[in-house]
Amino acid sequence: MSKFFSNKYKNLTPYVPGEQPKEKQYVKLNTNESPFMPSDKAIALAKEQTEKLNLYSDPDLIELTAMTAKAVGVNSENVIMTNGSDEVLNFIFMAYCDKDNPALFADVTYGFYKVFAEINGVKGEEIPLREDFSLSVDDYIGKKGTVFIANPNAPTGILLPLSEIERLLLSDRERIVVIDEAYVDFGGKSAISLIDKYDNLIVTQTFSKSRSMAGARLGFGVANKEIIRDLMSIKYSTNPYNVNRMTASAGVGALLDEDYFNENCAKIVQNREWTKKELESLGFDVLPSMANFVFAKNDKISGKELYLRLKERGVLVRHFDKERIKEYNRITIGSLEQMQIFIKATKEILEGAQ
Ligand code: PMP
Repeated sequence: MSKFFSNKYKNLTPYVPGEQPKEKQYVKLNTNESPFMPSDKAIALAKEQTEKLNLYSDPDLIELTAMTAKAVGVNSENVIMTNGSDEVLNFIFMAYCDKDNPALFADVTYGFYKVFAEINGVKGEEIPLREDFSLSVDDYIGKKGTVFIANPNAPTGILLPLSEIERLLLSDRERIVVIDEAYVDFGGKSAISLIDKYDNLIVTQTFSKSRSMAGARLGFGVANKEIIRDLMSIKYSTNPYNVNRMTASAGVGALLDEDYFNENCAKIVQNREWTKKELESLGFDVLPSMANFVFAKNDKISGKELYLRLKERGVLVRHFDKERIKEYNRITIGSLEQMQIFIKATKEILEGAQ
């Protein structure tokens, strides 16, 4: 750290992204990316834009916003497009968290919430999940603060029913509840259907997972129009051209290809159920996942050791050192072929461990 770094960031602990190794070709099951190519339409439209890179992108992102709104069943005034959903999450922290409104989130959830709280100088309160890693809405009722819930949760994959989200929204209509639906397309039910009813709800989604566009950085927020206006003020005060030309057009292309999107989501769900069954037959405890990953542990081998042994064999999964989850690994669901390689390697490691 240089001597010039502002004191306000003295204690900042940056988010640690999953490894993106360059040294060798891994079966990469560690960052919840899609194993499938982006849609041909997304690629073709993005390519066209390369010839216009001398010009700024449309700050209002009119076409992309309209198409995204249509895809999720709302109006353009209910949508803000951002540079990954991480950006809309940061905007929400900037807009709705302060010294009177701390951020409330689970102890085991997306690690970025804690970092966003720190960089925005607001308190982040971790609320423990139940023993089985499910979330109890009652633990949030009566507490003051802006609530952040990943649904399905990461890294567990566990889904909170919409009825529970509604109960939380109803319990205090004066505070914002954010439902982060980065993984909702793999079997969850979106809370977007509730935005007309609750003006304290914000839903965030991403093109990174189900639409195979992690490298393009495209996400969005959905809420009532006053909230979207607040978030637009933050966007226009930080980075009006937050979504670049190639990404905006790739997003339009992806939305034109609903069949491809649906097919890929169905394949991931199928591969997830296959992987879960295989892991269970190897003695793993696999949490019930509605996402494009599973979270699993096996009493025969520590989480860290399994992670390291898989890495030696060219398979990368995600291990977290946090005490409560250190025996688990999070395994992204890839193609069936990738999952077969993963299961074979795991089997061999377990045989060696006996
Ligand atoms: N929310 C959750 C729960 C995530 O796991 C991720 C992916 N790391 C994100 C949001 C952000 O994804 P992106 O910025 O790629 O949209």
